[in-house]
Amino acid sequence: MRSYDEALEQVLAAVLGPLETELVPLEQARGRALAEDMIAPVDLPPFDNSMVDGYAVRAASVGAASEDTPLALPIGMEIAAGSWPTRALRAGEAARIFTGAPLPEGGDALVMVEDTEEDESGWVTLRAPGSSHYIRRRGSDLAVGELALPAHTTLTPGELGVLAALNQSTVPCFRRPRVGLLSTGDELVPVGEQALAPGQIRNSNGPALAAAIEEAGGITVEHVHARDTIASVTEAFARLAHCDLVLSSGGVSVGSHDHVKDVLEAQGSLAFWRIAIKPGRPLAFGRLGSALFFGLPGNPASSLVTFELFVRPVLRKLAGHALLTRPQLRATLTDKLPHASGRREFVRARLMWQESTGTYTATPTGAQGSHRTASMAGAMALLIAHEDHGDYPAGTTLPALLL
Ligand code: AMP
Ligand code: MG
Repeated sequence: MRSYDEALEQVLAAVLGPLETELVPLEQARGRALAEDMIAPVDLPPFDNSMVDGYAVRAASVGAASEDTPLALPIGMEIAAGSWPTRALRAGEAARIFTGAPLPEGGDALVMVEDTEEDESGWVTLRAPGSSHYIRRRGSDLAVGELALPAHTTLTPGELGVLAALNQSTVPCFRRPRVGLLSTGDELVPVGEQALAPGQIRNSNGPALAAAIEEAGGITVEHVHARDTIASVTEAFARLAHCDLVLSSGGVSVGSHDHVKDVLEAQGSLAFWRIAIKPGRPLAFGRLGSALFFGLPGNPASSLVTFELFVRPVLRKLAGHALLTRPQLRATLTDKLPHASGRREFVRARLMWQESTGTYTATPTGAQGSHRTASMAGAMALLIAHEDHGDYPAGTTLPALLL
């Protein structure tokens, strides 16, 4: 049986590199990974400008003006954002200026409007010396030729703002992985369809995994259902083998109705199918046609937890992201956590920030049975209970993988 660390290393090593690149309209690029270094083609800001509403002056004209020794200057011009000064600033005058407006030539200091008083005759009284601190210099945000964003950056609103400022209407991104999703099980009925006959249940993994695929940056191109027969699983595999990644749920254990492993060995290759984790011990990994293949367990909590631990990082690597895993923090158990050594356990938990101690506390989301769909709802993190450890007493601090 693979350890968690070995299994993660093996599945990530199976991704030889990101998929091809494509140009994506800026407004559709959120969440994608940048395929090339973005070098600033222009200076940001493109000109020296004011950080404040106030007055541009020549520092030498103002000297050490202060509350006790105010200085009055005539207002020679006004410069609004979006305009350009018509002439240089002369010695002994001030220019009324607004945030984002270009600094006039000769102006080398700014006085905030809060430190001034304007009178009707067109003069302004300055109660503070001018400061160059309020000047936003051309190129001080990003200079021409500077690396704005390295390849493999995940594009969040912040990065999209940088690309927009640099006038990139299309963005080179790695292609999103195309995923084939397969739900196996004679007992499954799709959500919203006919009433359940005795012995049947709703296919809840299908929609949950499709959402997880989307969140991870993949596209579910096909979602099929297979019955628990070799023929049905074989047919479904053949249909999905053209994808970048195939994900099945259920049928991966050792029961006589579990055919996923055998069919994978017949149609592709099986690298491993057991991992020393809980939930999710039966987890098949291999190849099917052009696709990487994951056979997730059927139990709802197991399928989502194993998706999170193994499939999500693989999808992110295929999609070209530098960052494959989620952040971790440490959280303190509010109650005793029963844990049997031998497997690494991932416990669905809620976290709560404790202002008084400056730490997070963690409380499991109820019974951790892998069949419990409700145990995933509201889970903010997976607490990591180590395979070399037994029960944890209340007050123990454990690593928590944020969901
Ligand atoms: P299996 O791995 O096929 O033995 O399934 C394990 C458990 O998960 C069984 O109780 C199944 O009924 C249940 N299960 C399998 N697939 C799904 C699914 N798509 N949605 C909800 N439950 C499922
Ligand atoms: Mg089954």
